[in-house]
Parts: sequence; structure tokens; C-alpha cells
Amino acid sequence: MAILPIRLLGDPILREKGRRLTLDQLRSVSIQRLIDNMIETMRDAHGVGLAAQLALLPARQRGCLLGIALLAGTGGSLVDSLLGALVQERRRCLRCGALAERARHSCGGATRRIGGLPGVDNDTVNLLATGAGALFAWLLGAFCYDASALNRPMRIRAAGASGHAG
Ligand SMILES: [Zn+2]
Repeated sequence: MAILPIRLLGDPILREKGRRLTLDQLRSVSIQRLIDNMIETMRDAHGVGLAAQLALLPARQRGCLLGIALLAGTGGSLVDSLLGALVQERRRCLRCGALAERARHSCGGATRRIGGLPGVDNDTVNLLATGAGALFAWLLGAFCYDASALNRPMRIRAAGASGHAG
């Protein structure tokens, strides 16, 4: 059995579609050997699963992705709360007196701005918070992955070999 090459982010092969196999092809010795090698490769890299043409992300990169999603999401919702509390326009209905978000309240009455920045409604805040979350994700991604790793097409390791080739 052998450890298969691990394709990394940026490798064009990761955009290729897989080929459908017939049952007979699936039972063939060469495909069965490929499956055995894939399982061995997955275990060797401490992976939890892989597709034939997919990168089997090392644990560090998987952890990094999870961390980025978590931190960027938290950062985005924090920005949402801050903007909502500090700059979002606050309005009050002139007819029923309830707090409102739009120029016209659901009761049909017109509303008047009582605080916040004019024109900055909930949609604006959501847009800014989403943008902030994306910016956080981008910054964290730049922090986690160096550019050289993205441009390195693949790593080849042969079973029993001590170094990397390719
Ligand atoms: Zn009203």
C-alpha cells in the first residue's frame, strides 16, 4: 500500500469533476487498490474523509478553517450589535408611539427619527456587519495561510520514504 499525493488548495485538479465508475470497474483490482491507498492516506494525514479528487486537508488547515469561520462570524455579529446600538437610525411612530425601523410603521402611521444617523437602517447595518465578517475572514485567512503554500501544487510522499518529492 502507498500514501497518495495530497493535492492542496490552488491545485487546478481540485476543480475537475470525478468520473463515474461501473460496478465492475469498482470491483477491479486497481480500483480496490486505489481505495485501500486512499484509506491509508486518509489515516496517515489524520483525515476524517476524502473524495478521490479532493484535497485531504491536514488537521492544522481544517482547524484553521473552523477557527476562521467561528471568529469571523463572531466578529461580524459584534459589529452588527455595535452599529445597531450606536449608529442605526431609531424611529418612533407618530400615530401609536411604538419604536419603528422604517419611515412608515406597520400600523400605517408615519415615523420620526429620534436617534442614530439618518438613513442608516437595519439593512445598512446588516450589510456593513456582513462585510466586516468577510473582512475578518480574509485577514484571518491571510494570517493562517502563507501565499507559498497556496501556490505549491502538491506534495508527494512515498510510503517508507523519509522526505518529500515533487
Ligand atoms: Zn404605529
